[in-house]
Amino acid sequence: MIKVTDLTKIYPGPVAALRGVSLEIDKGMFGLLGPNGAGKSTFMNILAGLLEPTAGSAELYGKDIVRQPQMIWDQLGYLPQEFGFYDHLTGRAMLKYLLKLKGVTGPQGLNDLTDQLLEKVNLGFAAKRKVKAYSGGMKQRLGIAQAIAGDPRLIIVDEPTAGLDPEERLRFYRLLAELAEDRIVILSTHIVEDVANLCSRFAVIRDGHIIADTSPTAAKSEIGQTLFEGDVAVDQLDQFEKSHKIARAILVEGRNRVRIQVDPLMGPPDGFVPVQPTLEDAYLLMMKSANAVAA
Ligand code: ADP
Ligand code: MG
Repeated sequence: MIKVTDLTKIYPGPVAALRGVSLEIDKGMFGLLGPNGAGKSTFMNILAGLLEPTAGSAELYGKDIVRQPQMIWDQLGYLPQEFGFYDHLTGRAMLKYLLKLKGVTGPQGLNDLTDQLLEKVNLGFAAKRKVKAYSGGMKQRLGIAQAIAGDPRLIIVDEPTAGLDPEERLRFYRLLAELAEDRIVILSTHIVEDVANLCSRFAVIRDGHIIADTSPTAAKSEIGQTLFEGDVAVDQLDQFEKSHKIARAILVEGRNRVRIQVDPLMGPPDGFVPVQPTLEDAYLLMMKSANAVAA
């Protein structure tokens, strides 16, 4: 289990990237969801023992990540947001090099481990191709291959699905889900769909604050029967917004298709019908509430 308490990070500037983050994370897939600049990478780098927080603590199964990061490095696999590969190497040579740096080997030696890992992430077929010929999804899978080497108890992946096409994304989901069966996997993302597809639990981070720590099911059921959808004319949206809590407004054929959260005592406006909330609705409403508090 991971236990993070009051984690704070102030970069020179000063920029407050984390403002007292506390979380407990168990085995399985945990999502850290938030917009760009929310503090996700900062959080991930601290958990990986690569960045020192300004204050607060982080523990992996009781071991202090902040003071003794070298104690957890052999139990950690990390795929950073910006992972640099040497493009002119083959996938196999690149992975072998990374495994050497990481200091892991297999019972049958490094070559054997390299091939096993390539198979595991479905890159066996491209082992001899140069990395520069890999698609975005193939590069991410190569990144995962080095992260899972040594069978770590904790895997951290920072925005791994950004830039993947839908098929690549689905394949990557399957791989991550498999890994999370017997480990802690922490995935950061700004894509709600990632969390909806993968995570049994997730937290929403915004401006360095955790504004929700929940599950997709709970987040949706919290909105329950209060979500309604209807049309609003374009020139009336501003006025409408003053008296209704809008989750989203999408322009369809010249009219706004609007989803709102309705106070049960008030009831919905004319023409609005109840809809099943998606996780995206829940997320958008959370961000709206946080806005209201910040304002
Ligand atoms: P995310 O990964 O959610 O996009 P980051 O953790 O990268 O967020 O950044 C959080 C905030 O900290 C942003 O405002 C960003 O500009 C700032 N930041 C990140 N790294 C540094 C740094 N090395 N120096 C100064 N500010 C930084
Ligand atoms: Mg980031």
